[in-house]
Amino acid sequence: QLQVEKLSKSFGSARVLNEVSFTVEPGRFLVLLGPSGSGKTTLLRCLAGIERADGGTVRFGERALAEGRVHLAPDRRDLAMVFQDYALWPHMSAAGNVGYALRRRKLPRPESERRVAEVLERVGLADHTDRYPHQLSGGQQQRVALARALVASPGLLLFDEPLSNLDADLRERLRVEISTLTRESGATAVYITHDQSEAFALADEVGILEGGRLVQLATPESVYQRPSTPFVARFTGLAG
Ligand code: ATP
Repeated sequence: QLQVEKLSKSFGSARVLNEVSFTVEPGRFLVLLGPSGSGKTTLLRCLAGIERADGGTVRFGERALAEGRVHLAPDRRDLAMVFQDYALWPHMSAAGNVGYALRRRKLPRPESERRVAEVLERVGLADHTDRYPHQLSGGQQQRVALARALVASPGLLLFDEPLSNLDADLRERLRVEISTLTRESGATAVYITHDQSEAFALADEVGILEGGRLVQLATPESVYQRPSTPFVARFTGLAG
């Protein structure tokens, strides 16, 4: 279970996250939706440990990731993140990028090579393992990033608008793959987007951010049928 309580963050005088609280049950897929500047990326960065919140707690399973003076480094949080711009190492092949995520596991080399090959096959890149990022299309690069996120079987997967740099056709296909592979992995997922159709297609639950506040968190059906505020109704554009 991912448990976030009263998470707050300001940059100067701007309050970007305002006492955000929510829980995601194990293996569930939460999509955070909200307009530009509503705090989505900041929230995800606080979950990842890249950003330090001013107040509030983040717990995952039995562990406190951020609580009081505790602030675990990103690589100690049992999570992986997929970014909008792929964030691959340019000097490493696809296999090198994916294998890098296993470096802390200290696996015997044949075992880590086997895992890397297996996960690259799962994302459809069995024939591209030795290519470098600049030799891959945007969609292929994002598949490498997805493989890198999955390879160590983290408990928590964080996605920051992973499809927004891709064209519509590819977006649709990769969306299905992300959903399938994430659910197969059993990980709990938090996925941010400002694309409503993407949110409603992927989510077990949708959380809606407005000005740093979480104004609704519910199943896509409930958000559709019972938007909590006029803002939610307008923003999702689904209620009359
Ligand atoms: P988008 O959909 O455009 O990516 P977002 O919902 O992800 O937006 P954030 O990136 O979390 O929003 O930003 C929320 C607010 O915080 C914005 O007004 C942004 O300018 C501000 N902000 C984010 N990071 C910083 C920073 N390091 N320093 C100062 N202000 C910041």
